[in-house]
Amino acid sequence: MGDFASQNRTVLCKSCHRPLRQNRRWFPQQYCNRWHKVRHRVAEFVGGVMENV
Ligand SMILES: [Zn+2]
Repeated sequence: MGDFASQNRTVLCKSCHRPLRQNRRWFPQQYCNRWHKVRHRVAEFVGGVMENV
């Protein structure tokens, strides 16, 4: 029972795709840390620029 609930709260980091356990139900964590958040945004920005060039 408890395992099923914890599985639903596991999300992959958008930057490195590691599984993250969700401690807060109202604000899902999407990155390991803030640097992965920055890295993911930079990667998206660079990818967009590369497509335009
Ligand atoms: Zn990460």
